[in-house]
Amino acid sequence: MIGANIHKIVEEIPPNVNLVAVSKTKPISMLQDAYNGGQRAFGENKVKEMIAKHEALPKDIEWHFIGHLQSNKVKYIAPFVHLIQSVDSLKLLEVINKEGIKNNRVINCLLQFHIAHEETKFGLDLIEATLLLKSDSFKQMKNCNIRGIMGMASFTTDENQLRKEFRLLKSFADVVKLESGNSECNILSFGMSGDYKIAIDEGSNMIRVGSTIFGGR
Ligand SMILES: *Cc1c(COP(=O)(O)O)cnc(C)c1O
Repeated sequence: MIGANIHKIVEEIPPNVNLVAVSKTKPISMLQDAYNGGQRAFGENKVKEMIAKHEALPKDIEWHFIGHLQSNKVKYIAPFVHLIQSVDSLKLLEVINKEGIKNNRVINCLLQFHIAHEETKFGLDLIEATLLLKSDSFKQMKNCNIRGIMGMASFTTDENQLRKEFRLLKSFADVVKLESGNSECNILSFGMSGDYKIAIDEGSNMIRVGSTIFGGR
């Protein structure tokens, strides 16, 4: 069933759009089903849970961290995380860079943006993001790589509202790419179970889908 859900989504999205299967709270057996169906990118929002699943499952899985990340926990995921999507401060990025040095790797990151109407308090606004990218501290970092942006639209079925918010996120992504001066900065991570088709229509190339694949939480 899980494999079929994934195939249905993959068949209807353009080939340039990456599907991250959001497996938070779901048991390892369900992730294994998704893996057996060909899925390789999984999203988790708790450090402990991601570590346990990483240890239990095949090592070619790409682990995406999508929840609020505390600086003191970066060290636990730094050796293996594929993409930290939820960078919301310079301080956090400094710690990620430091852990990247310790692990002799470059850790890929997205800047998480906050849209006024959404539920979560976490995320940057455009001014904060610009200050981060212009800072001397950021310019000296060699072991983290800003690959784009992540955002969440309001929890609404109002299509006009969703489109407005996705367009705003797209415009933030354009600024981040310009300010970072990084040609690899081209990931636009927005769109979830309820809104990913509209998100793709508005320029998303990475969707994070949980309940449509694994069922409700
Ligand atoms: C839970 C979650 C998702 C997936 O939500 P669904 O509505 O179940 O698809 C996507 N992104 C983030 C940041 C999440 O926390």
